[in-house]
Amino acid sequence: MPEDTVFGKIARGELPADIVYADDDLVAFRDLSPQAPTHVLVIPRKPIATLNDAGPEDAELIGRLFLAAAKIAQQEGFAEDGYRTVVNCNANGGQTVFHLHLHLLGGRPLHWPPG
Ligand code: AMP
Repeated sequence: MPEDTVFGKIARGELPADIVYADDDLVAFRDLSPQAPTHVLVIPRKPIATLNDAGPEDAELIGRLFLAAAKIAQQEGFAEDGYRTVVNCNANGGQTVFHLHLHLLGGRPLHWPPG
């Protein structure tokens, strides 16, 4: 059940996290294993397991994940230099936590294409 993931527990305040943004629908917190000087995960409180499980009713919510990431990039001071947002989906995408999340990576040049 997506409710039972580590991110579900963080969203419900049952596990600690370094939270950088929260509102009624979203929570953003620093990744435990950062891949860039700033690596933040933005999640909906709603437990959607993967991007495949999002429906048309989630369109605004998913848009808000990106808008929150842009706001955090401003707060962290690298919006103008640039940054990357990533959603990993299922095995080939490298998804390990099955609660939809947007990675925000910034603070250094990022290589493309990724490995
Ligand atoms: P993904 O591989 O896209 O599913 O990303 C999962 C991310 O969650 C990884 O970058 C992990 O380092 C991160 N992560 C796992 N558990 C925690 C946690 N308790 N707090 C913060 N980040 C976590």
